[in-house]
Amino acid sequence: MTTFADLGLSQKVNSAVADAGYTVPTPIQAGAIPPALQRRDILGIAQTGTGKTASFVLPMLTLLETGRARARMPRTLILEPTRELAAQVAENFEKYGKNHRLNIALLIGGVSFDEQDRKLERGADVLICTPGRLLDHCERGKLLMTGVEILVIDEADRMLDMGFIPDIERIAKLIPFTRQTLFFSATMPPEIQKLADRFLQNPVRIEVAPPSSTAKTVTQRLIASNGKDYEKRAVLRDLIKAQDDLGYLKNAIIFCNRKKDVADLFRSLERHGFSAGALHGDMDQRSRTTMLHNFKEGNLQLLVASDVAARGLDIPDVSHVFNFDVPIHAEDYVHRIGRTGRAGRSGRSFTIVTRHDTKYLDAIEKLIGEKIEWQDGDLTALPAESEGSDNGRDRRGKGRGRERDRDRKRDRQPAPAVTEAVTAPANEDNGEEVVAAEARSTSVKAERKTERKSRDEARPSRQNAPANDDHRERRRYRDHDDGPTPVGFGDDIPAFMLIVANAKS
Ligand code: AMP
Repeated sequence: MTTFADLGLSQKVNSAVADAGYTVPTPIQAGAIPPALQRRDILGIAQTGTGKTASFVLPMLTLLETGRARARMPRTLILEPTRELAAQVAENFEKYGKNHRLNIALLIGGVSFDEQDRKLERGADVLICTPGRLLDHCERGKLLMTGVEILVIDEADRMLDMGFIPDIERIAKLIPFTRQTLFFSATMPPEIQKLADRFLQNPVRIEVAPPSSTAKTVTQRLIASNGKDYEKRAVLRDLIKAQDDLGYLKNAIIFCNRKKDVADLFRSLERHGFSAGALHGDMDQRSRTTMLHNFKEGNLQLLVASDVAARGLDIPDVSHVFNFDVPIHAEDYVHRIGRTGRAGRSGRSFTIVTRHDTKYLDAIEKLIGEKIEWQDGDLTALPAESEGSDNGRDRRGKGRGRERDRDRKRDRQPAPAVTEAVTAPANEDNGEEVVAAEARSTSVKAERKTERKSRDEARPSRQNAPANDDHRERRRYRDHDDGPTPVGFGDDIPAFMLIVANAKS
């Protein structure tokens, strides 16, 4: 069996990998690391969850051990489609680069330029960027790309979905032709193949099979509900309480199909006294980072999220996934429930299903090749759904009717301004965690606007942007590195160790 020691990585890198607890490389790592160390171009067909990040971070760290960064002239560049993925790659550099003294600069949208500028001034060994923000820095004259020795293009197919390909082509023109290029994509549609043909020279191709099945460590159940949102919310609350009472619930990600519903459900859960946070693409970057931090640290038990915000996130220990909505794209189901049951741990997923969801449920069961069990009877066991009926009350017992009426009234009223209380490590001197109450006022108008943008009407791609090359006009599309909801196979299937890799030169 191949071990990390066989791959040719430096002593410093091997020792950090051992400290991280890994001894056996995953197939993408075993296939990509040796040729990457020989400065070969790589075409990696793999998605998150396969250990793909380390497959480029580890050889880069080894190669960066010789040479030094100069001000404004980064030595390596990694392009990521979203801010969260970029931040996750930066975390990987910190983890595996703990024995190195490298300067890492994270250039993502939604945060101020000043601190990013300061890092660039000091000289960055590694630049991790979303395409728009990188071009903005280049246009401000703050960056010279002529010193880039290694270019990584990660998640190329998502870059395509998000309309970033023209940006990537522009960036590639700024980088010397003699560079080494490491190119990763989960799928290879013709546009991506063309791009790879243009960008890569005689690459080593490593392909790992996409996981299309759900992890065997996840117990999946369906819960029937009538279709009204207030009823689904009550079903969800009951479910959370029941799982908690049984001692199963540590924490949970709750998925909604639309950003508007993420905000509504988050508020509703808070009102009912749950420890909850929210994560969706319309939140500012600081709130997103803080939310994620608090969820990972266990300061928040529940995280209500949209698909895009949670895509590719590596949160190792999530006990439950609740699907408040059945996902419209079957692949998203695999992806969502892959958030739990990771690294061999057991996980539970519950999906609330209404009569309107049967088409989507069928597609999911077809994709995963199995029937998912119902928890307490299927949809035929539900009382008929009718406006103003008392049926929901019967199912959930006494006292729920009043609560439901209150919820229903709220649904009709304009949404109130939101105040999110989040905990943030605010005082580094004494290491105390203090609660920072962050007032985020979301006007009724903004909420309505969000509602209009359904997940399928993802934000305009740059390809559809006006031909006008005016800087301001382009900027409107630039900071969209939090992206439309992606479609694709789910990631992070812990069974990746079993996947067979084919490495061809
Ligand atoms: P990625 O595909 O880069 O998002 O990685 C998915 C997860 O696999 C992360 O939690 C990594 O820390 C973990 N991982 C990466 N390499 C290995 C390995 N060789 N053995 C076990 N886990 C790994």
